[in-house]
Amino acid sequence: MSFQVDKRGYYGQFGGAYIPEMLYPNVEELREKYLDIIYDPVFQKEFDNLLKDYVGRPTPLYKANRLSEKYKATVYLKREDLCHTGAHKINNTIGQILLAKRLGKQKIIAETGAGQHGVATATVCALMGMECRVYMGKLDMERQRPNVERMRILGTKVIPALSGNMTLKDATNEAMRHWINHPTDTHYIIGSVVGPHPYPDMVTRFQSVISSEIKEQLQREIGNPYPDYVLACVGGGSNAAGAFYHFLSDDHVNLIGAEAAGLGIDSGESAATTALGKPGVLHGSKTLLMQTSDGQVVEPYSISAGLDYPGIGPLHAHLFETGRVQFLNATDDEAMNAGIELSRLEGIIPAIESAHALAVLGKIALDPDDVVVINLSGRGDKDLETYIRWGKY
Ligand SMILES: *Cc1c(COP(=O)(O)O)cnc(C)c1O
Repeated sequence: MSFQVDKRGYYGQFGGAYIPEMLYPNVEELREKYLDIIYDPVFQKEFDNLLKDYVGRPTPLYKANRLSEKYKATVYLKREDLCHTGAHKINNTIGQILLAKRLGKQKIIAETGAGQHGVATATVCALMGMECRVYMGKLDMERQRPNVERMRILGTKVIPALSGNMTLKDATNEAMRHWINHPTDTHYIIGSVVGPHPYPDMVTRFQSVISSEIKEQLQREIGNPYPDYVLACVGGGSNAAGAFYHFLSDDHVNLIGAEAAGLGIDSGESAATTALGKPGVLHGSKTLLMQTSDGQVVEPYSISAGLDYPGIGPLHAHLFETGRVQFLNATDDEAMNAGIELSRLEGIIPAIESAHALAVLGKIALDPDDVVVINLSGRGDKDLETYIRWGKY
C-alpha cells in the first residue's frame, strides 16, 4: 500500500487542490517546482545547516526512566520542545522560506490561529530579511496577545481579520485574498500538512527530519531503528506526519495519533476529527472534517489552541481510512493530568498539544519489552496561563 501522494495530489480519495481559479497560477508554480528545489543538494545543505545551527537539531531522543517505570515499557521522548521557538513548527518554516527564496519571492504571508505558526514564520522572515505579513483573527489577537507582540518584535506586520467569527478561518480567507492579488512576489507559508497540493506533501517532507532522526538515534541506542510504537498528537497533523513518515511502510511499527476530545467526544465540544468527521473540502483539499448534516463546518473546541481545528490533513485521513494509523483521543482533563504527570516525573512541562499524546499512553496495552517513542511536539511555556487557570497541581 502506498502512502505517498500521487501525481494529482491525492492520498487515496483524499487531497487534491480545491482552489479558486485565481489562485491556480500560484499553486501550480509551487507544484511544478517544489520537488526539484527541495532535493537540490545545495538546498539540502542549506536546510540541514540551519536545522543544525539555528534550530538546534538533531533534537535529543530522551529515555524517560520514571515515565517508563510508571507505564511498564521503555518510553522515549523525541524532544521537539527543545527546538528554537519551542516547537516543531520551525522545521517547516525554515524549509518554506528557503523554497520561497529559490522561487524568487521577496515577501511572505501566513495565517495563524493561536499565533505559534505566526511566530515561527516571523522568526524565519527576520532571519532571512524578508517582509512578512501575518493574518490573524481579531478575536485571536486579543486572546493571544504575547504571540502578537512576539511577531511585532520580530518585525512582522500582524493584520487583524475582521470578518466572520474573527478567528482562524477568517484569517485564512484574508491571506488567500492577499495572495491572489500578489501572486508574483509573495509566498504563502502554510503551517501544517493541510491546504491544496503540494502543501501537505511539502510540509510532510520538511517535518520528516523527525522520524529520520528517531531511526538513527534508536539504532545507536538499542541497535534497532524500529520502535514498537510512535505516538504523536494531531491538530492539522504536521508533527505526527513528521514522526510517522519514515515508518509508514514498516507495518510492525504501530503508529498512533492522538486527537483532542475536548469536553468529551459526545459533548459537542471537541476536535476529534476521525471520530466525528466525514469527507468534505476544507482549506483547499478533500479530507475528513467535522461538519453538520448539510455540510457546514462545525466549530471545534479543545483546551489546546494547536489542536483546535475542525479537520486533519489528507494524508492522515488516508492513514485513518486504511487503518495504517490508529487514532485515539484524550479529553482536556486527561491531557492536563498527563501534562502535570510529565512535569512531576521528568521535570519537563509539555505543550498542552503534546500532553494529548502523553495522555493516550495509558490507553494502549503495552508489553514490558515494548519500545515507545512519544513525539513531544512543544514546550509548555506558552501554556502557562492555561495551566494556572486549570489549577489542579
Ligand atoms: C501547532 C502545534 C501542534 C499542532 O499542529 P500539528 O500540525 O498537528 O503538528 C502540536 N503541538 C504544538 C506544540 C504546536 O505548536
